[in-house]
Amino acid sequence: MAEFTMELNDEQKEVRDWLHGFAADVIRPAAAEWDEREETPWPVIQEAAKVGIYSLDFYAQQYFDPTGLGIPMAMEELFWGDAGIALSIVGTGLAAVGVLANGTEEQIGTWIPQMYGDANDVKVAAFCSSEPDAGSDVASLRTRAVYDEAKDEWVLNGTKTWATNGGIANVHVVVAAVDPELGSKGHASFIVPPGTPGLAQGQKFKKHGIRASHTAEVVLDNVRVPGACLLGGKEKLDERLARARERAKTGGERVKNAAMATFEASRPAVGAMAVGTARAAYEVALDYAKTREQFGRPIIDNQGVAFQLADMRTQIDAARLLVWRASWMAVNGKPFTAAEGSMSKLYASETAKKVTAQAIQILGGNGYTREYPVERMHRDAAIYTIFEGTSEIQRLVIARTLSGMPIR
Ligand SMILES: Cc1cc2nc3c(=O)[nH]c(=O)nc-3n(C[C@H](O)[C@H](O)[C@H](O)COP(=O)(O)OP(=O)(O)OC[C@H]3O[C@@H](n4cnc5c(N)ncnc54)[C@H](O)[C@@H]3O)c2cc1C
Repeated sequence: MAEFTMELNDEQKEVRDWLHGFAADVIRPAAAEWDEREETPWPVIQEAAKVGIYSLDFYAQQYFDPTGLGIPMAMEELFWGDAGIALSIVGTGLAAVGVLANGTEEQIGTWIPQMYGDANDVKVAAFCSSEPDAGSDVASLRTRAVYDEAKDEWVLNGTKTWATNGGIANVHVVVAAVDPELGSKGHASFIVPPGTPGLAQGQKFKKHGIRASHTAEVVLDNVRVPGACLLGGKEKLDERLARARERAKTGGERVKNAAMATFEASRPAVGAMAVGTARAAYEVALDYAKTREQFGRPIIDNQGVAFQLADMRTQIDAARLLVWRASWMAVNGKPFTAAEGSMSKLYASETAKKVTAQAIQILGGNGYTREYPVERMHRDAAIYTIFEGTSEIQRLVIARTLSGMPIR
């Protein structure tokens, strides 16, 4: 097990500087344009693919870094560049992780390369779990998967919503109920291969922030996929369902805890994205406060402004420490006895919202315009307290973990 460290090693610093260079030279200059266009920034994804940032190999390397700092460092730098573009670059990872977590080696080898494509022909992937009536309460999802034994095919029907890259993805990973009576224990994940009839993009959402990231409904109308598209395979699913049915009354807790551990491990990455956005806004505000003069002196000469910057930086550093701690715990298999993963996401996302709002205040009228990036950063920051579990859900998880009580 690696010791917890607050220092990046030389190799990590090199990767961080390389990512920072890409964020500063390629992502940041393109941010305002793609925010206004509200379209997927394909040329930027292609650039990222060319240099090796848009690839499973890169994220796998960071993920398996035993210090746990690889992923948070990478997320912070890319999202420092711009949240919408960075989500377009890392969004495929959500679907890839779905396959890595549940798929067989053959499924991983077949589908993940098709999710990314290559530098000359980049593709994206989508992970479709949320539904119009199943957001925070994901156990209540209604999309059904029914097995057609005669054809060895699964038939999917339902409507997914809020899917990042939904409808434009080459590969969709869809979570559906195989046995609705078992709640989340009766769910399974399916690959929907490119060009499968019956899958269509529904409404594309016009959003408040992260507008360079495509978010849409995905409608599944009698979508037939081969039996081999069930992640993990039929035998494993049947065993799992049989165990879940047996444990339905007495042992349900164990399954719930396994799912919770997965969320605890993935939430620090979202926390790191929030730290990136917060740091970006803080840097703009600090610079502005030192150069903007009113009443014959830089505005930072006023404690009212300087103290805000002191608080902003303190909260950003505190958020990063919570993120790094949780990420180190996840990689090293430490139990999340106080829901440290949720804590990191909660604190970092709330910090990003607060700090970006303070940055607008420090820039005054300029902060309120699209001439300066903090207005966009504030709109972007609002997503962090919503996706991957809202702040309320994080608090619920933390409170339940601390108390052992079924707090509602
Ligand atoms: C831009 C964007 C991208 C997304 N990308 C994806 C994606 O790629 N794939 C995917 O599957 N999903 C995705 N999502 C969905 C996202 O995870 C959900 O929006 C989120 O889980 C919240 O669900 P909801 O929007 O239905 O809100 P609701 O669950 O309806 O919540 C509404 C409000 O009620 C509160 N609330 C709900 N239950 C409780 C409770 N028990 N106690 C206290 N408060 C509660 C919530 O905190 C929130 O404030 C995305 C969403 C957005 C906006």
